[in-house]
Amino acid sequence: MLPPPLLAIVVPCFREEAVLEETNRRLCALVDHLVAEGAVGPRSFILYVNDGSDDRTWPLICQFHRASRRVNGLNLAANAGHQAALLAGLASACPRADALVSIDADLQDDINAIAEMVTAYRDGADVVYGVRRSRRTDSVFKRTTALAFYRLMEALGTNTVYNHADFRLMSQRAVRQLCRYRERNLFLRGIVPLIGYTTARVYYDRGERLAGESKYPFRRMVNFAIDGVTSFSVRPVRFVFVLGCIFVLIALVALGFVIYSWWHGTLVEGWASLFLSVWFVGGCVLLSLGVIGEYIAKIYIEVKDRPRYNVEQQLFHDDTPTKRQNSATFAKHS
Ligand code: UDP
Ligand code: MG
Repeated sequence: MLPPPLLAIVVPCFREEAVLEETNRRLCALVDHLVAEGAVGPRSFILYVNDGSDDRTWPLICQFHRASRRVNGLNLAANAGHQAALLAGLASACPRADALVSIDADLQDDINAIAEMVTAYRDGADVVYGVRRSRRTDSVFKRTTALAFYRLMEALGTNTVYNHADFRLMSQRAVRQLCRYRERNLFLRGIVPLIGYTTARVYYDRGERLAGESKYPFRRMVNFAIDGVTSFSVRPVRFVFVLGCIFVLIALVALGFVIYSWWHGTLVEGWASLFLSVWFVGGCVLLSLGVIGEYIAKIYIEVKDRPRYNVEQQLFHDDTPTKRQNSATFAKHS
C-alpha cells in the first residue's frame, strides 16, 4: 500500500454564499479526521475556487483562509464556468498535492466517500470515480434526461462513466496529464477516461443541495450536453455521409422502378423526372456535405491538440532506472 498522500480537495464555487460556511465546516472536519487517522498527510488542504461570483463567496473564502491553515483560495477574475473553474483549481493544487479530489460546493456528493477514494488510491488507482448509487433525490425529469444523455454518449462512442459527474479523485500524475488536454470546450468527465491509468469506483448516495440554488438550469444543462457530444464525437458528421448514400441508393432503386414502369407503359407523365431528381440531387448534396464534414472533423480533431499518448512506464536497459518516466508523464510519488 502507498503511504498516506498529501490530499487536496478542490471545490469550484459560483455564488455559493448560502452553503459555503456549512461546506467548509464539514470539509475541514473531514480532513482533520483523515489526518488524525493517518489516512492522508498532515498538510492536506482544501482549495476553494471562486468562479467570478458577485456575492460574498470570495470574502468568505478569505475569512476561512485566515482562520485555518487547511484552507486555500483561488479567485478567478470572471466567471469561467464550472469545468474551467475546476480545471483551474486542479492545475494550481497539482504541484502541491499527491492526490486531488474534486467536489461541488453544495456537498450533494457524500463526502464520506472521500475516505474510500483515498483507500483506492493507496491501493494503486490513479483515478477513482465517485458513482451515484441511486438518483432518488433527483426529479423524474432530471433522471430521464440524464439517462438519455448517457445512452446518447454511449451510442456516439464516447467513453463516459455512467452516473458519474465531477466527484472524483485523481493522482498528481493523472492531473498533469489532464492539463495536457488543451481544448476550450471542456467536458472533463469525457476527457478523464481518455487518460488511461488504473481506475477504481466508489459508490455513494447523492443528497439534496445543502442550500442555495442549482447553477445548472435547464438551458445550461442542454448546452453542457451538446458540448459533451460535439467535443468528443465526429459520428454526427459521418451520419450525414451515410444519409447521402442512402438517398442516392433510393434514387437508384426508383430509377429501376421507373424503367420497369416505362417498359410496361404504366409510367405517369412528369412523375419520374421529378421523383428521381429530388432524391438524387438530395443524395448528392448530402454526400458532398459529408465529404466536407469529414475534412472539418479532421480539423476539429487537430485543433484540439490532444496528447497522442500517455506513457505509463518504460523499461530500457541502457537507462538508469528513474522514477520520472518522461517529460510528459511522471511516476506516482516522484
Ligand atoms: N459552478 C461554478 N461555476 C459556474 C456554475 C457552477 O463554479 O458557472 C459550481 C457551483 O458552485 C457548484 C458546482 O459548480 O460547486 C456544481 O453546480 P450545481 O451544484 O449548481 O449543479 P447541479 O448539482 O445542480 O447540477
Ligand atoms: Mg449541485
